[in-house]
Amino acid sequence: MARKNGKDGNGARDDKAEETRSQAPWSDHPPSFAGWARAAIAGSGTAPSLSPHLHLIPPPAAPGIVTVGPGQAFSLAAINPDATGGLDKAEAKAALDAQRTRIRSLQEKLYAEHRRSLLVVFQAIDTGGKDGTIRNVLEGVNPQGCRVWSFKVPSPEELDQDFLWRYHRRTPGRGLIGVFNRSHYEDVLVVRVKGLVPEETWRERYGLINEFERLLTLSGCVILKFFLHISKDEQKERLEARLADPEKHWKFDPADLMERKSWDAYQTAFDDALTRCSTPYAPWHVVPANRKWARNVMVARTIADTLEAMDPRFPEPRKGLEGITVPD
Ligand code: AMP
Ligand code: MG
Repeated sequence: MARKNGKDGNGARDDKAEETRSQAPWSDHPPSFAGWARAAIAGSGTAPSLSPHLHLIPPPAAPGIVTVGPGQAFSLAAINPDATGGLDKAEAKAALDAQRTRIRSLQEKLYAEHRRSLLVVFQAIDTGGKDGTIRNVLEGVNPQGCRVWSFKVPSPEELDQDFLWRYHRRTPGRGLIGVFNRSHYEDVLVVRVKGLVPEETWRERYGLINEFERLLTLSGCVILKFFLHISKDEQKERLEARLADPEKHWKFDPADLMERKSWDAYQTAFDDALTRCSTPYAPWHVVPANRKWARNVMVARTIADTLEAMDPRFPEPRKGLEGITVPD
């Protein structure tokens, strides 16, 4: 069972907020979930440590996105990858611009505040649109405050460590937005589908991933996980487009055709990961991703809403600035 957000949703955690949302689903001023975020700066001094008893409930995702309810069996088959969340193509460009403007200004505060961080995780099947989403949504963000990491086949050095090592060393430090293009979830996805480790090893990982994400959350890192959901037909079109356009040849990987043969095995692995690793503090958000223009706005809006809910603030000004003059 999935929890739907937005105007057609029924899983709202705040009725009033949901009401506002349905009246103006793409408004620039979503309800603030400052109470949630304030908890993240409740720690004393500069160390944003959180008490384990605090329940951080992240704000709802944008209309059109389906958030996987923690503890509920979930299946991608139930999600329409063509959905647009009620957005028209004609208004998508302006809507994306508006969300990017919000992200930019909130990022500046997050950076200045230097107490919390945001980790945005993208997973999808090959051609699912991870690169395009990152390029479009983060356009204009101050590069100094943002780190994007793409995870490929692990190196021998990485394989000599525990499976989370290479991800943990790339989590965003205070003040930063970190983006994972593929992530620790590969270790229960491609690794499972290709049988790279025994079943008892990957089965243990769901729990380890939840604990890892809990550690990050309790340390002041808010986690947003997006699964970009495309159909098998859409993947065919995207692979054909890569073959047809010389400028896209570099993106065509013949291995993707082999992986495509495992489409069903991947869907099963996705369903299990989304079901087992959707937690109250780091739920999975499934983005209908056949239509790139809608996908971009839905993701941007959710990032902006989350940052807004974190309510980052410029630090208090130093005392005694009024009397200072800058010498010639
Ligand atoms: P791409 O993102 O298209 O550049 O491809 C990266 C490749 O690395 C994909 O085929 C992934 O399945 C693979 N990959 C990423 N993480 C892992 C992992 N932990 N173990 C094995 N393969 C991985
Ligand atoms: Mg690829």
